[in-house]
Amino acid sequence: MKLILLGAPGAGKGTVAKLLTKMDGSVQISTGDILRAAVAAGTELGKKAEAAMKAGDLVSDDLIMGIMADRLKEDDCKPGYLLDGFPRTIPQAEALKTMLAEMGEVLDCVVNIDVPRDVILDRLTTRRTCTDCGEIYNVKSNPPKEEGKCDKCGGPVVQRDDETEEAISNRLDVYNEKTAPLAGFYEKEGMLLTVNATSSDAVIDAVKAKLGK
Ligand code: AMP
Repeated sequence: MKLILLGAPGAGKGTVAKLLTKMDGSVQISTGDILRAAVAAGTELGKKAEAAMKAGDLVSDDLIMGIMADRLKEDDCKPGYLLDGFPRTIPQAEALKTMLAEMGEVLDCVVNIDVPRDVILDRLTTRRTCTDCGEIYNVKSNPPKEEGKCDKCGGPVVQRDDETEEAISNRLDVYNEKTAPLAGFYEKEGMLLTVNATSSDAVIDAVKAKLGK
């Protein structure tokens, strides 16, 4: 399947993407994960992206489109892809539309995961992430078995730099201003599936129903 997962930070895009990859071998592509890996590795891309990310601002559209133009051409995208955290602005959505048309690709749909702001705030402040493999934990509902250590790979489980209260509040404002308008964009394209759900299983069920799986 070829999907865009739209939703505020903390709406559950990553969790839903991981569950969907298990259904048909589609690959999860998270621009946030790609950027965090670049920052950790100290690459040119990482150096360019680091300050904006730490403040909870968006990285420039040019940088993101450069990453995605290469990423979508990789072999593992052939069975399908779940775009998690991309596109995030109208110019990115326009550029993606052109890019897909050139590649002869058609998306199945755009899943807009709509979660109330208080649930999002609670999730983001209690979320913890493995810096090695990206596995997500929650200090209240899903802590690692051993504190600070990833169950899957043994890597360090920490709070992300952009999950301080100040950066979270900025990320949500940036989402409302720059990314929320994408729902209208894809509505007009006839591709939008909005799911009001706080459980990822409910989102998966809605996607399955929409795609007839
Ligand atoms: P995420 O893990 O998706 O919340 O992304 C973390 C941070 O990476 C964001 O707050 C942005 O600074 C940056 N980022 C990720 N994806 C994009 C994108 N498509 N456009 C611009 N910035 C992005």
